[in-house]
Amino acid sequence: NFKAILIEHDGTRQSVRLAELPRDRLPEGDVTVRVACSTLNYKDALAITGRSPVVRQFPMIPGIDFAGTVEESSNADFKPGDRVLLNGWGVGERHWGGLAEIARVKGDWLIPLEPIFSLAQAMSIGTAGYTAALCVMALERHGITPESGEVLVTGAAGGVGSVATALLAKLGYDVAAVTGRPEESDYLTKLGAKRILPRSQFGEPGKPLAKEEWAGAVDVAGGQVLANVCASMKYRGVIAACGLAAGMGLPVTVAPFILRGVTLAGIDSVMCPREERREAWRRLARDLDPSLLDAMTERVPLDACVSVADRLIAGAVRGRVSVPISNE
Ligand code: NAP
Repeated sequence: NFKAILIEHDGTRQSVRLAELPRDRLPEGDVTVRVACSTLNYKDALAITGRSPVVRQFPMIPGIDFAGTVEESSNADFKPGDRVLLNGWGVGERHWGGLAEIARVKGDWLIPLEPIFSLAQAMSIGTAGYTAALCVMALERHGITPESGEVLVTGAAGGVGSVATALLAKLGYDVAAVTGRPEESDYLTKLGAKRILPRSQFGEPGKPLAKEEWAGAVDVAGGQVLANVCASMKYRGVIAACGLAAGMGLPVTVAPFILRGVTLAGIDSVMCPREERREAWRRLARDLDPSLLDAMTERVPLDACVSVADRLIAGAVRGRVSVPISNE
């Protein structure tokens, strides 16, 4: 048997519990992994609280990412003992996920762990951090360099925002960090932010074009926040948009795009091709200061995930939530 968080639905409402399940209920897959560590991302919190229809079939083990050791494999790329990690691919949404002692998945979804990371460190980064790396890579692909000017990060004290801030600062960018939590200013400065801006500055509808301020931006908020970011980009600025913490809508005009040549680059971590994922993890191994991971990470046991999910949705968690599952 193995322990897991299980989300069930009786047709009218969902319930979540720590369950003990027989191994023969594991889904199909050619690789079985003993999970060392999983995490709570924004999407996991949506799934656990039932706030959005993240879970596509029930019962579901949530957890869109995990790191662990291969136990059994009929996939030529993996053998027992290999240290692997998984982000996305619908795991924790359509396929049983990482908030469990054991996961069985398609080997094609796994990538080998970068040797410099422990399994726990990889999950301090997790899907949020890997998405932050994809955002930084998108800015670079569109020609943004530290010389281009200041880069804005929204939701900076959250998971994606914390890793994006640390990565960009280490790469030499001047980072302006937007947060709704001024009490996290010292934390953000420690991650490398040069300036802290209040979220309220981005919350109200503004003009189609505002003062040109940012060469680049990593946005986790969407909604009015992203609209105001678009309006205040410098000429030919680039925004990597990955989130919807402020809302799904986007009340913008075309003015920033057709008058300032601004690029809005969409970022998806879930179905991102394997080679780009591996590149993102190589970049995290190279460009993220691992000594910052402790300050960014809150560790919670498997049986506390449900209560922490509520705090995460309320925007009250700093950085990342990792869920250690075994002692590896
Ligand atoms: P998180 O840790 O909860 O961080 C979100 C942060 O957004 C909060 O900590 C808060 O930061 C800020 N925030 C909360 N409510 C806000 C509001 N109403 N307006 C503006 N900012 C607000 O979540 P995460 O794991 O970093 O994920 C962030 C977003 O990225 C989520 O929407 C998630 O779904 C998305 N995401 C997308 C992908 C992808 O593949 N596209 C992958 C990972 C995550 P402050 O307190 O500092 O303001």
